[in-house]
Amino acid sequence: MTANEAESASYDYDLAVIGGGSGGMAVAKKAASYGKKVVLFDFVKPSPQGTKWGLGGTCVNVGCVPKKLMHYAGLLGAGMHDAKAFGWKVGNPEHDWEAMVETVQNHVKMLNFRYRVGLKSAQVTYVNGLARLTGPHEVTCEKRGKETKHTAARVIIAVGGRPVIPDDVPGAREHALTSDDLFSLRTSPGKTLVVGASYIALECAGFMRELGLDVTVAVRSILLRGFDQQVAEKLGDVMKDLGVKFVRPAVPSKIEKTSDGKLEVTLVDSKSGEEVSKGTYDSVFYATGRKADTSGIGLETAGVKVNPNGKIPVENEQTNVEHIFAIGDCTSVDVMFHESHWANPELTPVAVQAGELLASRLYARATEQMDYSLVATAVFTPVEYGCCGLSEEDAIRLYGEDDVETYLFGFGTLEQSAAHRVKHVEGEEEDDMPATNLSKLVCLKSQGEKVIGFHFVGPNAGEITQGFGLAVRLGAKKSDFNKLVGIHPSDAESFCAMGITRSSGVSFVAEGGCG
Ligand code: FAD
Ligand code: NDP
Repeated sequence: MTANEAESASYDYDLAVIGGGSGGMAVAKKAASYGKKVVLFDFVKPSPQGTKWGLGGTCVNVGCVPKKLMHYAGLLGAGMHDAKAFGWKVGNPEHDWEAMVETVQNHVKMLNFRYRVGLKSAQVTYVNGLARLTGPHEVTCEKRGKETKHTAARVIIAVGGRPVIPDDVPGAREHALTSDDLFSLRTSPGKTLVVGASYIALECAGFMRELGLDVTVAVRSILLRGFDQQVAEKLGDVMKDLGVKFVRPAVPSKIEKTSDGKLEVTLVDSKSGEEVSKGTYDSVFYATGRKADTSGIGLETAGVKVNPNGKIPVENEQTNVEHIFAIGDCTSVDVMFHESHWANPELTPVAVQAGELLASRLYARATEQMDYSLVATAVFTPVEYGCCGLSEEDAIRLYGEDDVETYLFGFGTLEQSAAHRVKHVEGEEEDDMPATNLSKLVCLKSQGEKVIGFHFVGPNAGEITQGFGLAVRLGAKKSDFNKLVGIHPSDAESFCAMGITRSSGVSFVAEGGCG
């Protein structure tokens, strides 16, 4: 018997995992695959609007999965516009929100079922209850008023986060929807005000507009904080062309219900506080950030340190308490990258990989640590944005303007340009060849033009960026991209032999044609 097994013998389990989302599921199954006795607790507290869901956490229920399916629903609408231009008789298609939600929720429920089966076949004990630490090795689980106690040699906290609605706007908490509610709404949100301007706000504004809704986004300051700002503005322009209205800089100051059940929102300038507009909406959707769901889980009882914002500081996923670990959105990792400090990205594959590597280190003598840097990501707006590495601003901030060269290329996707995809807003003038796409490489001159930032706005940016992310991770230089022979005609070939630098001042927008 090893020392580890001897230690575990005095507990009910080798490992207790609190939270059955992306990270919790991954770490529990991996640990069980090494023959460990594992229990996983998962419980969904209803949203303020009363929405609940099943096993699998944010990603599958109220995040990536339903969002991507609704993004697809939006793309189908835009595709039908193109289809007409290519000779399909599609009439005047109308969107049925209810039917879409049914398809999306059926798929989510199927995934919830698969997760349960997955835990069972991995021989992980699943307890559907709200868990908290009641001792260093003790987890108390509450289910329908009954409490059970479970002990474990090690505990992993993977409780994720929940949306935050600011408490200083009268009516916001009472009336606003969040991403916890939107994907299972049985009736269309109708005319919607989106508050916030990051990933969730822009993605949801994007698909709601593509589904034909009247959408306004109240932007407090900038679009997509932390992302390349030239690209973020490009994305905003494309969304405007699709009919999304932006009010900026603006925040709601109050939300009131009218006698006919609508919501009257007063928007004020976020800098001066002066009223900028008053509007009536069917729904107000808040996407103003998320908070780690760590309050009330007994961290103090077990002596686990927690930051004022609720995140658990970890080093190699270990908390300040030796046998207690944490992974995913509820953690704070100090990521050193390009001689600078960064926060760990809140993304599903990050939580999964951190969990799997941790289990292998704990139970299979592996040594590989999670690398939180150079994680590729995509914003699934109607025209997607994918990136890996530094924004141009961050590169200049870290290395100075003289050491950074940026290559740019703006163009329209062949098929969409032919169909006049973007300017399909009623009554708007159509461009001949709208440059909806933008390809951008940020390079470090002192390291032989090593590519330190890859950015692409265009269709399928998620897919394209996943591939190019490997090149960036492997340290590719601009000369490597130049040697790459393109796949023609494709959008991704724009990255082969990009010739126009920002410093040249030459227009980087393509004039059309194949060479
Ligand atoms: P979660 O998945 O949030 O899981 C935590 C689980 O723990 C939940 O089930 C929760 O109910 C449970 N729990 C909490 N407290 C307790 C307790 N005390 N007892 C028992 N159970 C508890 N990421 C991407 O990579 N790509 C995307 O396209 C993407 N889109 C997103 C879209 C939206 C709208 C949102 C909100 C997020 C999106 N994300 C996306 C982020 C991604 O969903 C998260 O990064 C990921 O789910 C984090 O996983 P986690 O395991 O840390 O937490
Ligand atoms: P973020 O924290 O990224 O953004 C919050 C947004 O809300 C910002 O635009 C911010 O503006 C604004 N905001 C904050 N407070 C207020 C306020 N009081 N009034 C008005 N506006 C306000 O949160 P998200 O919810 O968009 O995303 C959370 C995380 O989820 C992301 O970091 C990401 O990791 C993950 N995610 C990933 C996706 C993907 O991979 N495709 C998709 C969706 C989410 P300001 O800039 O002024 O601070």
